[in-house]
Amino acid sequence: MQQAAVGIIGGGILGLATAYHLTQRFPQRRVVILEKEAELAQHQTGHNSGVLHSGIYYKPGSLKATNCREGKKAMEAFCAAEGIDYEICGKVIVATHEGELPALQRIYERGQANGVRCALIDAEHLHELEPAAAGIKAIHVPEAGIVNYPQVCQRLAARLQERGAQIVTNARVTGIRQQSGEVVLQTLAGDFTVDYVVNCAGLHSDRVAALGGAQPGVKIVPFRGEYYEVKPHAQHLCRNLIYPVPDPSFPFLGVHFTRMIKGGVECGPNAVLAFAREGYHKTDINLRDLAETLTYSGFLRLAATYWQTGLGEMWRSFSKAAFVKALQHLIPAIQAEDLEPAAAGIRAQAIAPDGAMVDDFMIHETARIVNVCNAPSPAATASLNIGRLIVDKLAERFT
Ligand SMILES: Cc1cc2nc3c(=O)[nH]c(=O)nc-3n(C[C@H](O)[C@H](O)[C@H](O)COP(=O)(O)OP(=O)(O)OC[C@H]3O[C@@H](n4cnc5c(N)ncnc54)[C@H](O)[C@@H]3O)c2cc1C
Repeated sequence: MQQAAVGIIGGGILGLATAYHLTQRFPQRRVVILEKEAELAQHQTGHNSGVLHSGIYYKPGSLKATNCREGKKAMEAFCAAEGIDYEICGKVIVATHEGELPALQRIYERGQANGVRCALIDAEHLHELEPAAAGIKAIHVPEAGIVNYPQVCQRLAARLQERGAQIVTNARVTGIRQQSGEVVLQTLAGDFTVDYVVNCAGLHSDRVAALGGAQPGVKIVPFRGEYYEVKPHAQHLCRNLIYPVPDPSFPFLGVHFTRMIKGGVECGPNAVLAFAREGYHKTDINLRDLAETLTYSGFLRLAATYWQTGLGEMWRSFSKAAFVKALQHLIPAIQAEDLEPAAAGIRAQAIAPDGAMVDDFMIHETARIVNVCNAPSPAATASLNIGRLIVDKLAERFT
């Protein structure tokens, strides 16, 4: 008898990590990964900062905290075993004025509670680590790192193919039909009949959940994060990872400097409403996406509360001088002429109808479908553990 088949929607890092665990733990089961693009990892996974997060920021006991800690260990082990480029280079979170010290202290305490190796350091120690950074106090997190996530995905895909998993690209899922104990996934590459489904569709995860009849009660709102690349002559200003103290009301971490594993230094991202779920350029507009966002009560409530912050972010999007000013809080010597525009990324942020940004990872289950409804940063770091968690949920269903 053929063992139950699983269809995974989305060939980003979460879909691939889930398939990796599934094929490892249940080698007899048929696994098919359906990706709408011609290549894997073309959206969030291929457009992020490439940071291996330590887990310092997250509420102790949350899915983010536990999966980030465990996932980072698993990711490092995977990269080491597979010869993938990564580096544990350390990071500093920098308070630039007295007003940020209480928040810095809270992050430090969270780090302690989450078991992250970190230390509060004074301006002198900060200067030794990052000579160009300005700050009155900082947290040094030696275990933060950088990695090449697209390379991780290529290797996951290669291992999956060796294990007989089917990866089908150009296969946008357009319909989900549940009938007598099986699920038919209708795609642009034909129909696939499976027993169980995992929805890892990122920016479209709410729509895919709805196709399967789930009502997780949240909607994805896309936020574009724009980056600049530091030109070679100024790259010495950032040795590793330099982050600000984040605003606790937002899940985004504020513009930061990131040394990239492939070389070079990027800075950003800001966070502006994207007028298309895959709108990587300021001028990209998708009327369906935009209308859905602008008529969603959750977004309207969020916008009513945080319109000033939103306007500030938009201003930084249109004015390079304003973006540079934000960066100069961390590195005063950085100048507009040191920066050139780099590719943007779009975050899939789930928003509740009351306007709350869903902070933690969110997984919603129906009898045959596991929907990943919110997987923002640090989900790339945490992916191998989130994949394990999803496979635990599937295992409960296998008989
Ligand atoms: C700007 C930015 C910076 C970030 N920085 C970091 C960082 O430094 N460290 C970190 O850990 N995390 C970071 N993140 C978060 C991280 O990138 C994401 O959490 C992670 O990539 C999510 O992976 P995913 O597989 O869920 O989504 P995605 O990578 O978006 O994959 C979803 C896939 O589903 C496919 N899909 C969608 N709809 C369908 C459909 N109907 N049919 C078939 N396929 C479909 C898409 O084409 C896509 O390939 C960042 C994110 C952004 C945007």
